[in-house]
Amino acid sequence: MADSKEVKFIFVCPNENEVFESSNFKILDNRGVVTDDTGNKTLDAKVALNEPCPLCGQKHVYHAGELLCPFSG
Ligand SMILES: [Zn+2]
Repeated sequence: MADSKEVKFIFVCPNENEVFESSNFKILDNRGVVTDDTGNKTLDAKVALNEPCPLCGQKHVYHAGELLCPFSG
């Protein structure tokens, strides 16, 4: 398994419309990689912050496909 605990994802706060980095998140509802109509592969999962957003204080949940994934490319 991955031991890269320092991997940070880039999140966008929907309330402040600004980005922040966090490595403190968890994956929910992971259904694996899916291919959409245009052939793009995305991870069908949700990403939930384990800590409140540093910008607005809420705990946001994102779809994995919305995030800038450091593993892609
Ligand atoms: Zn926020």
